[in-house]
Amino acid sequence: MTLPFDVDAVRADFPILETEVDGHPLVYLDSGATSQKPRAVLDAERDFLSRANAAVHRGAHTLAAEATELFEDARVTVAEFVGAEPEQIVWTSGATGGLNLVAGSLGYAGRLREGDEIVVTEAEHHANLIPWQELARRTGARLRHIPVREDGTLDMDAADSLIGARTKVLAFPHVSNVLGIVNPVADLVARAQAVGALTVLDACQSAPHLALDLSASGVDLAVFSGHKVYGPYGIGALWGRDEVLDALPPFTTGGSMITTVTLDEAEYLPPPQRFEAGTQPVSQAVGFAAALRWLGAQDLAAANAHEAALERRMREGLRSIPGIRLLGDTDAAERVALQAFAVDGVHAHDVGQFLDSRGVAVRVGHHCAQPLHRRFGLTASVRASAAIHTTTDEVDTFLDAVSGVRSFFGAGVAA
Ligand code: PMP
Repeated sequence: MTLPFDVDAVRADFPILETEVDGHPLVYLDSGATSQKPRAVLDAERDFLSRANAAVHRGAHTLAAEATELFEDARVTVAEFVGAEPEQIVWTSGATGGLNLVAGSLGYAGRLREGDEIVVTEAEHHANLIPWQELARRTGARLRHIPVREDGTLDMDAADSLIGARTKVLAFPHVSNVLGIVNPVADLVARAQAVGALTVLDACQSAPHLALDLSASGVDLAVFSGHKVYGPYGIGALWGRDEVLDALPPFTTGGSMITTVTLDEAEYLPPPQRFEAGTQPVSQAVGFAAALRWLGAQDLAAANAHEAALERRMREGLRSIPGIRLLGDTDAAERVALQAFAVDGVHAHDVGQFLDSRGVAVRVGHHCAQPLHRRFGLTASVRASAAIHTTTDEVDTFLDAVSGVRSFFGAGVAA
């Protein structure tokens, strides 16, 4: 028999959840933007900075050795979390940093030229779109996209005809940060592999919710960020297959990524150091690893069942409120507990403020996914995103507040 998920025990690890907003307990439903940090992460960063802080990979002193060990141990932890080897993990400033690194490096390598095609989806976060736009613009390659159907799923028939001999890169989100739908990674990878295209996975929104086994996934490269997985800001990871990373030139250059430098040229270290020029985000790496260790110590099977129940409750609850339009309303796909919606007759920003006045924190706007909003005929939506610490009562508080929005703003009421 499995025990029910002890959400209260999880919540006790997050000091910020004791916050009150306008006399209401904080209901934090904005984890898709950034997650809250458990005490283990706060302690790990503080402990590192107060006890072991030093520049890594240089310096003959004791602190430098200790800092280097903690930094490299963090890489091992992150690698284990995604089913990878430590040498396959490159520290980045976040998912945006990782995606720019990949697109920029492919550009430097001359891997794309006129006539080649880069395929993305209509559901990209701008971080997995604009770097490819730039690469296409600079190389003459063509950027194409797999359309999103009305129910939020990818049009895989269109994918079949789009992905072809000209496709050099297929970049896509594991989970859209607006739709919450888990995309069919294996199917997309199979199509890309059939034409020899490189696959790039944006795992930002899946890493906090789904077990990742990147080595087994078939993708070539993947990115995710620390601050969405209960870790610190300013750190993320790029994962790549050995042969894929080996074949990429550095994107940023400078200190700490070389073997020999003359005034005319430099020889580079192998991955991952080749991609880690300059002083690294060391305390953040330590905090990132602490976050993943903390997450790994939770009962993840129970947590997943809990989050799945929250997802259903949130979506079914929203569906039952008149005047609410869900983005990506389907039961047919696997999902995470993240749901965007529009309220008929009320601007998303007004909805956000109204919910905030009840202590409920959500994200409003285009969520860095303007093309996807345009596809649904919207400029903005409201997004609620849950985390491992979200309770059923919090979802109900949110639903209750949403059900009061239209009458508060007089929407749908005859003049
Ligand atoms: N991709 C997706 C799907 C995201 O949700 C985000 C963050 N909103 C990013 C990329 C960018 O991540 P980062 O903040 O780590 O740069």
